[in-house]
Amino acid sequence: NQQWRLAKRPVTDLSEDDFEWSEQAIPPLQAGEVLIKHLYLSLDPTNRLWVNEEDSYFPAVVIGDVMRGGGVGVVEQSLNPRYKQGDFVQGMLNWQRYAIDDGSGISKIRVTEDLPITAYHGIFGPIGMTAYFGLMDIGKPRAGETLVVSAAAGAVGSLVGQMGKQAGCRVVGLAGSDEKCRWLTETLGFDAAINYKTANIRESLLATCPKGIDIYFDNVAGEILETVLEQINIGARIPLCGMISQYNNEGAITGPKNFANILMKRATLKGFIVIDYFQREKEAFDYLEKGLRSGQLQYRVDVVDGLQSAPKALARLFNGSNTGKLIVKVDPS
Ligand code: NDP
Repeated sequence: NQQWRLAKRPVTDLSEDDFEWSEQAIPPLQAGEVLIKHLYLSLDPTNRLWVNEEDSYFPAVVIGDVMRGGGVGVVEQSLNPRYKQGDFVQGMLNWQRYAIDDGSGISKIRVTEDLPITAYHGIFGPIGMTAYFGLMDIGKPRAGETLVVSAAAGAVGSLVGQMGKQAGCRVVGLAGSDEKCRWLTETLGFDAAINYKTANIRESLLATCPKGIDIYFDNVAGEILETVLEQINIGARIPLCGMISQYNNEGAITGPKNFANILMKRATLKGFIVIDYFQREKEAFDYLEKGLRSGQLQYRVDVVDGLQSAPKALARLFNGSNTGKLIVKVDPS
C-alpha cells in the first residue's frame, strides 16, 4: 500500500514536509472486512484543521498516522456480506491507495453514465449537503433578499450562489480572480461578483447590495466577514460555514471587528458542520439531483493526478489556484 502519513504539525502554511510517504504490504482481510481501491481523494480546507494539535469537530490526526481524507473507491475484495467486488463506495478512505474497512465507515454509491463517480465529491457528497443545509436551514432565503457568499467560485460557494438564485435572491459573490468572477456572473447567473483581492470590498458591497445584506454565507471569516457585518440588515442570517482565511493562523482564531452589529441588527450567526446533517442526506440529494438534471445547478471539479501530489495540491486551496472541488485521482494516469 502507498500512504501519506502525518510527519509533523504545520505552524502556519502547510508544506509537503509535514507529510511522509510510506509503502507497506496490505494485511490479509479479517472476517467482515472490505478491501477498497481508492479512486478519488477529496482535498478540503478543513484538512488543515485536522492536523492541528487541538481536536476540531474530529480528533486531531495523530503524528505517524495515515492522513485523514474522504474518498470514493471500488470494492476489490470483500469478507462482508453487505458488499461485493465491484461495488462503488464512499467514506473516510484516507490518503492511501487501498483502504480496509469493516463496513461501518463506508456506504454504497450509485455510479452511472450520467452520474460519474467524481460527482460524489463535486455535488452529491458533503459539499452539496453543506451548501444546501447551510443555506436552507440557517440562511432561510426568501425571494427578493440579498445573499452574499464568499469563496464563491469554490466548491461550496458556487453551489450556494446558484441555490440562492433558485430561491429568488439577489446574489453577490466574492472570489479571488477576475476569471472566477466572470464564471460566476456569465455562467452561473450571479447578479454581481467582487474580486476581493483587487477591489475595495466595502465600496463594492455598497454598490452591489444597494438594499443591504440579508444573508451572508461565510466561508472565509476575517476581513470579508468584518466588512459584511457593517452592511447587514435587521434580522440578517449568517451561516458560518468556514473560516479559511484564518486556518493558517499561528495563534487562536479571534472574533471579528463589528461583532456588535450582530446585536444591533438582531442577526443570527450560526456555525454548522455538515456531519450533523447526514441523516437528512436524501432531502439534499433529491434537490441537488433535480437541479443537476434540469441544468439549474452546475459544479466543476479540479482533478490532480496521483496520490503523490496530495500534499502540494492541498496548498492550492489556500492560494485560490483551485477551480472547483479539488480532488486527487489516486492512481496516476
Ligand atoms: P473551495 O473550493 O472554496 O476552495 C477554497 C477557496 O477559498 C479557494 O479557492 C480560495 O478562492 C478561497 N480562499 C482561500 N484563502 C482565502 C482567504 N484568505 N480569503 C478569502 N478566500 C480565500 O473549498 P470548499 O468549498 O471545500 O470550502 C469552502 C469553505 O467551506 C471552507 O472554509 C471550508 O472549511 C468550509 N466547509 C465547511 C463545511 C462544514 O461542514 N461547515 C463543509 C465543507 C467545507 P479565492 O480564489 O476566491 O480566494
